[in-house]
Amino acid sequence: MEDIRLKDLTLDSILELVKTKNPEQKEFYQAVQEVMETVVPFIKDHKKYQQSGLIERLLEPERSVMFRVPWEDKDGTYRVNRGFRVQFNSALGPYKGGLRFHPSVNLGIIKFLAFEQTFKNSLTGLPLGGGKGGSDFNPRDKTDAEVMRFCQSFMSELRRYISKDTDVPAGDIGVGEREIGYMFGQYKRLTAEFTGVITGKGLAYGGSKVRTQSTGYGLLYFVNEMLKEGHGSIDGKTVAISGSGNVAQFACEKAIDLGAQVVAMSDSNGSIYDKDGIDEEKLNYIKHLKNMKRGRIKEYAEKYNSEYKEVTPWNVDCDVALPCAAENEITAKEAKTLVKNKVICVAEGANMPCTVDAIKILQESGVIYAPGKATNAGGVAVSGLEMTQNANRLSWSFDTVDERLVKIMKRIHKKCVKYGKNRDQINYLKGANIAGFIKVADAMIAQGNV
Ligand code: NDP
Repeated sequence: MEDIRLKDLTLDSILELVKTKNPEQKEFYQAVQEVMETVVPFIKDHKKYQQSGLIERLLEPERSVMFRVPWEDKDGTYRVNRGFRVQFNSALGPYKGGLRFHPSVNLGIIKFLAFEQTFKNSLTGLPLGGGKGGSDFNPRDKTDAEVMRFCQSFMSELRRYISKDTDVPAGDIGVGEREIGYMFGQYKRLTAEFTGVITGKGLAYGGSKVRTQSTGYGLLYFVNEMLKEGHGSIDGKTVAISGSGNVAQFACEKAIDLGAQVVAMSDSNGSIYDKDGIDEEKLNYIKHLKNMKRGRIKEYAEKYNSEYKEVTPWNVDCDVALPCAAENEITAKEAKTLVKNKVICVAEGANMPCTVDAIKILQESGVIYAPGKATNAGGVAVSGLEMTQNANRLSWSFDTVDERLVKIMKRIHKKCVKYGKNRDQINYLKGANIAGFIKVADAMIAQGNV
């Protein structure tokens, strides 16, 4: 049998290689397709990037670790989950990317997230490589003590592969301040070191101001820049948001702050529609409901007498749609509904929430669409700022960090415009992919075939 190799630098050959080498990893395949559809034509026009082995190396993680996570539940039963860390690309700096705890987690999902993270981190302009990790553990139906025991066991193994200078994880779905705290505590105990090995920490022990808000706030700063290109601004626009977790909550907060009216939010069971808009008080209720009570969004509808349906929030009248929950939540069907309802802008708070078909429908219908690697990069950007503060034993003010976040998001927007402008339209997907690619590829070429 022959070696499996890339035949040529066409999209078909690249996708064939990925499919053959990663059977069953459909999310990873999808992420590669999304990036390569725009990057391959660029490579064709730029000889430098046709160097042998470059694309194969870009598609292969530097390292993928899978490990056993044994823990004890509240009934004294021994349970076992699977842990992952994919260190995808360190051309630009130490691996950086969150940890996801959700039953759907598998190697393909973590690989797609780590691949995306590589380009996202490149776009931030900070010296960060790309990685991602997590477990198929579901913290949602567990007690605090169970979550703590799980996090301690997870970190007992993960610590072998991370450090403040090599790989710095953070949060993602199912991993918030509570989980970060337990993991940081265990790392400190095992190494007897107090270092910035993980970001998203509590403010009392090395966390950065604005980290909690950063992904949602950054998303809105980016959307505002998008709308300024011919659609005014976010002020006065109607917004629908999916999810009601970290990203969704702070996207909602900043949207309200910038004068928009948020009418819909959701969780994995269903969505609420509040025609009067979610104001600050109602949002505080959602934060308490989701973060402290770990309740369901349905309770919002009961409290504020609004609509609740066991469907996604994409069937409501809105100017701006912000998917902030999970991958592939907007398929061709939802995209057609959004187009029918005359949505102006779709910007991804989540990672890969739109399918390839959905993106095509949105773009062909004139909806301005921007991918998560650009729009949700605010989270990792502030994580990068947290690393800088930790390394220098500093704690910057809220305003200082927020101002830097605004600047970073504006800079990312500019890069997308630079590489994505086609006549009178901006193709944000193309712009983000090419801008992200150039920096990583240049660094890889400079560092040789490693
Ligand atoms: P959280 O766990 O805080 O919240 C996730 C939200 O999405 C919850 O409301 C959850 O509902 C909902 N959800 C999860 N899975 C599904 C599903 N299959 N269908 C519908 N709803 C679902 O996660 P985050 O807010 O941190 O992350 C949300 C997205 O943003 C993810 O794609 C993540 O990768 C991405 N992201 C996060 C960053 C961060 O800084 N946190 C940074 C960049 C990207 P329920 O409560 O019912 O589970």
